[in-house]
Amino acid sequence: MERNTRQRKAIHQCIEDAGRPLSPQELLEHAQGVVPGIGLATIYRNIKSMLEAGEITAVSLPGGGDRYELSGHAHHHHFHCRVCDRVYEVHACPGDMQKLAPEGFVLESHELTLYGLCSACRTIAS
Ligand SMILES: [Zn+2]
Ligand SMILES: [Zn+2]
Repeated sequence: MERNTRQRKAIHQCIEDAGRPLSPQELLEHAQGVVPGIGLATIYRNIKSMLEAGEITAVSLPGGGDRYELSGHAHHHHFHCRVCDRVYEVHACPGDMQKLAPEGFVLESHELTLYGLCSACRTIAS
């Protein structure tokens, strides 16, 4: 298989296996197990082309670096663990938030990020 295709497939697979959005550093750690010697520059290059192709989507969090998830997931939200800095998918949604919008405004979409401790970090903390 062509080298670039192999790297890209590996990165795709890493995000899929993780089941949650990954930062470039996390992607590097996961991908190294599949493609020995892969470097951060390669990760960034692939992220860029995968974003352009619409294969992955950036998850931007206030005060944090971007994470990347596979595109095409149904509407969902995220949970950011403040201890391990991992981001998880949240499949629940409070639903229509039109009532939160100011009088006369039309709501078109929303984003929601929950913050706290993931179950692993909670176990360590208690
Ligand atoms: Zn955690
Ligand atoms: Zn929602």
